[in-house]
Amino acid sequence: MNSSAESYSRALWWSVPPDPRPTLSQPEEADVAIIGGGFTGIASALFLAQAGKRAVVLEARHVGFGASGRNGGQVIPGLKHDPEELLAEYGPDQGARLVRMVGGAADLVFDTIATHGIPCAPVRGGWIQGAHSPLALKAVQTRARQWQAQGVPVEMLDRDQIAERSGTPVYFGGWRDPRAGALQPLDYVRGLARAAEAHGAVIFENSPVTGLTHEGAGWIATTAGGRVRAPRALVATNGYTGDLVPGLAQSILPVQSMIIATQPLPEDLRRTIMPGGVVLSETRKLAFYMRQTAEGRFLIGGRGAVGPAEKPALIEALRRGMARMFPQIAGIGIDHHWSGHIAMSMDGMPHLHAPAPGLHVMLAYNGRGVAMATAFGKMYAEHVATGEPVLFPATPVRPLAWHALRKPVMDLGIRWYWLKDRLGLASK
Ligand SMILES: Cc1cc2nc3c(=O)[nH]c(=O)nc-3n(C[C@H](O)[C@H](O)[C@H](O)COP(=O)(O)OP(=O)(O)OC[C@H]3O[C@@H](n4cnc5c(N)ncnc54)[C@H](O)[C@@H]3O)c2cc1C
Repeated sequence: MNSSAESYSRALWWSVPPDPRPTLSQPEEADVAIIGGGFTGIASALFLAQAGKRAVVLEARHVGFGASGRNGGQVIPGLKHDPEELLAEYGPDQGARLVRMVGGAADLVFDTIATHGIPCAPVRGGWIQGAHSPLALKAVQTRARQWQAQGVPVEMLDRDQIAERSGTPVYFGGWRDPRAGALQPLDYVRGLARAAEAHGAVIFENSPVTGLTHEGAGWIATTAGGRVRAPRALVATNGYTGDLVPGLAQSILPVQSMIIATQPLPEDLRRTIMPGGVVLSETRKLAFYMRQTAEGRFLIGGRGAVGPAEKPALIEALRRGMARMFPQIAGIGIDHHWSGHIAMSMDGMPHLHAPAPGLHVMLAYNGRGVAMATAFGKMYAEHVATGEPVLFPATPVRPLAWHALRKPVMDLGIRWYWLKDRLGLASK
């Protein structure tokens, strides 16, 4: 049985080994000790370093080992909560600032890539959300109208238009958000890391943090070989969260997401299946997401499994889904499959916690972390640099009472979602 954790080097993106970085072997002082070397931790380190703060990152394995180095590379702005929900929940001032932040998350990614010259095949062809039923179409039209009201030049797509843009006739219609795009995620996180180091951040790899303690006015993050002392600590461990912060691992659902990728498509198919760098995901709860890569491979992913082992049934479901939607490529070989863990929250929102003075946790982007974790990193660095309250609302760490039973509960939940999808009910 393949282990999901170790599938990182099977990811399509993994052709060049990581830059060699030291393991922590002595005491270090920092302004911020960051635990986790994915987009959240590394983007925070970059923006902190740009603001003149000394950030030290401790990564258990290597930069991009977690979801950041093995995701689908879709750069999608916004949350599962639409602008009007944010405005209603957080009021006209904070709500409007949140809408601007989450709506600008893809701009931030592409600007950061341009500023630091990160070679990660960025392409900005927009994001199509395909409706799997007439009910779901109504829901996405409402979402699109809300972004339109915010001044975003979104496009509504009818059945024929979406078929023409995507190469599949299965959707009832949808919308296209032009702010979105795609990139090579491992190259992006590695590029962020190099930019952070160029600005003075320090990254230690193969340095799992085994303890995080409050001492005096600050925090001590301890590894087998050393420790980092800092007035502030940021936990950025997402779907790979352990027991450093009490109750944190029990507050999220670490769900496996899996991707398969075909061999490069022939030229004529490249022109008709999601051409121009557009990315697509569906309105189903158990949604597929898909894109074409820079080398013309077709990549399709989906979520569902729980636990450390990859489920062959999920690979088969992706293969079947691809053949159903795109019969024109059903015969093309699939030469990569891999998986990783994302953190899902029960409320569908990312979580920002401040469980003790000087300690922050940022996680649970619910599958939207490429853009959102970058934006959270910038937001956190602004908070540290200015002393202003952090923009995103902090919530207490709330362990889920049934977390120990998550596997059977989620297996049941997956069946329920499957039924909801079959009935055509709308999901976000
Ligand atoms: C297959 C797949 C496809 C996806 N597709 C997309 C997509 O197309 N678009 C999108 O926006 N999002 C996508 N996502 C989600 C996105 O990748 C994540 O939201 C994002 O990478 C989260 O970044 P992160 O830095 O918070 O966490 P991660 O990248 O998971 O990093 C957490 C890091 O913490 C480290 N760590 C854990 N414990 C410790 C410790 N004790 N000490 C030191 N280090 C520790 C881990 O080794 C890991 O490297 C996908 C995810 C997966 C798995």
